[in-house]
Amino acid sequence: MHEIVINLHMHTTYSDGAGTHKDIAQAAIKTGLEAVIVTDHNVLVQGVEGYYRVGRDRVLLLVGQEVHDQDRDPQKNHLLVFNANRDLSTLADDPQTLIDGVNDAGGVCFSAHPDDVASPIFNETSISWDAWEVHGYTGIELWNGLSEIKTLLHTKLHGVFYAFFPHFIAQHPMPETLQRWDDLLMAGGRVVAIGGSDAHALDMHMGPIHRVIFPYTFHFRTINTHVFIPEPLTGDAPTDKKMIFESLAAGRCFVGYDLPASTRGFTFKGKGVEQSVIMGDEISSKRGVTLQAHLPKPAEIRLIKDGKTIAIWKHSQACAYSATEPGVYRVEVWRNYLGLKRGWIFSNPIYVR
Ligand SMILES: [Zn+2]
Ligand SMILES: [Zn+2]
Repeated sequence: MHEIVINLHMHTTYSDGAGTHKDIAQAAIKTGLEAVIVTDHNVLVQGVEGYYRVGRDRVLLLVGQEVHDQDRDPQKNHLLVFNANRDLSTLADDPQTLIDGVNDAGGVCFSAHPDDVASPIFNETSISWDAWEVHGYTGIELWNGLSEIKTLLHTKLHGVFYAFFPHFIAQHPMPETLQRWDDLLMAGGRVVAIGGSDAHALDMHMGPIHRVIFPYTFHFRTINTHVFIPEPLTGDAPTDKKMIFESLAAGRCFVGYDLPASTRGFTFKGKGVEQSVIMGDEISSKRGVTLQAHLPKPAEIRLIKDGKTIAIWKHSQACAYSATEPGVYRVEVWRNYLGLKRGWIFSNPIYVR
């Protein structure tokens, strides 16, 4: 398996972002990403997908969309749609019809910023996901790089502070979203967690202050989705796109907050007598399974089984746990950064059956 780093969920001038696809590709190359997935609101932009190159460096730019019912008041239920063979925005008014349409179009889909909060000071309403009765979706955006700031904007001054010092924003996924994910997993569902940036690179004007807040290059160094693909990228866009979406659909990925330190190199594996698996996979509990995590740098590793923390290793770079009981096992890694203990890595689960 080969690890690649993808930044996903971002906007261009085709919706409410300030940059172009080319700007995004250049920012992605500058920050060392292997791929990006651009998701403008309710439009599937044609003719821009493929490899972009600067000198000897390249990045694969893929195009999906973020679909929601624009007539709904209040705004809710934003769905990230990737790899569909057509524009699905006409199905936006009913979330289940939309999800069925994504599956019919060969795509994968994720509930975006599922537990978004309102920010009255900035006239921002909550755009959380409300339609939890739906089924057939691939997963959820566990950590969104823009939504979290709304929990911190107690005054306009806070807004100015975080616009100038965005490194202080990200702490961890919303606790409600982590809880919801565990509940869905325990109910027997396979729910893939991804991390999105929701990058817009917007121009901000507040009196005399003018600044591009959260440029693409900033987002691309923060919350990424690290995906394990069976072969190295080939440089052929259709081949590589197929590998990436098969791995994403299977949950062979983790959410990495790469700003405190790169999370490249993290692994979470299960070893049984006859079989070895990675995150996203299923393994039999018969005769026991050894779960192993390895980090690029020491930090606090937490092993979660069916929503409960069952073991903690402090200041560790690796851990092993003998699992004899069936359950949904996942790993969280936390580390200190800018005065707070912050989430660093959130793995997808290994399903021990
Ligand atoms: Zn959204
Ligand atoms: Zn968005």
